[in-house]
Amino acid sequence: MIGDLHNHSFFSDGESSPEDLVLKAVEMDLDCLALTDHDGIGGLERAAVKALEFSELSFLPGTELTLEYKTREVHLLWYGLDYHSDEIKDFFRKLRKQDTQRVKRIIKRVNQAGYDLDYEEMLNEGAYVGGGAIVYFTLMRNGLKDYTEEDWRKYESIYAKASKEDRKIFPLMSLKEGVDLVHKFGGIAVLAHPFWPGSFFNLKELDNILEELPLDGVEIFHPDNLKIPEQISELLDFCSRNQLLVTGGSDNHRPSVNSKMGEVLVEGEFLEQLLKRI
Ligand SMILES: [Zn+2]
Ligand SMILES: [Zn+2]
Repeated sequence: MIGDLHNHSFFSDGESSPEDLVLKAVEMDLDCLALTDHDGIGGLERAAVKALEFSELSFLPGTELTLEYKTREVHLLWYGLDYHSDEIKDFFRKLRKQDTQRVKRIIKRVNQAGYDLDYEEMLNEGAYVGGGAIVYFTLMRNGLKDYTEEDWRKYESIYAKASKEDRKIFPLMSLKEGVDLVHKFGGIAVLAHPFWPGSFFNLKELDNILEELPLDGVEIFHPDNLKIPEQISELLDFCSRNQLLVTGGSDNHRPSVNSKMGEVLVEGEFLEQLLKRI
């Protein structure tokens, strides 16, 4: 039994449609596919409907929440998400509204520095509204023809500054609030990619996190973690010691620039244990 439990569609900052992700998973003979777009549930219904055509594939609805732990950004995978629930829909609607406000502020800053970005135009192009990614995404698409390396560096520093300031106005939820939210709705809370360079957690810190919050699992099989292969067995010991679920996936966004679906998988017992809990 094999599954890829970390995938992004164009409902966040990925390139593929939810349907194409399902078709790809079937083509690759995966037993389980999870869609985990950032901070949103927009693609889940479409993926679930498509997956109904293939009895051999289980579809696992999810999302990847952007949270904060001691001033560091941290990502939490939420599996077993009931996207039909009005309360959950309402939560994500509010989150999206806040993100829209943030993105508009960032665009304003970027334009003040001499760019010419139009929010509505970006939306029409299907860009992601979460975080600053919409701006990033559009610049990237136009980048080859319109933007130089220097433009990029300039944009990145404006974005980093605007984003930091915005967090004072629109603070991220804490990791604890995120885990509580997932549990309130009966989902499974999995700490994503602990060795992601954006918020590297060593084993000691993972111990501390676990003392503070009731995580259900850790994503061990992930491209960033696999860059430090000698720590994978330690992470596996950590999970087994603490009776945590072990998950994994490719975290694919744009297959042309980063990992592809199926490049990192979770197999056998680990996958079965997760599915039993859903
Ligand atoms: Zn992530
Ligand atoms: Zn991701």
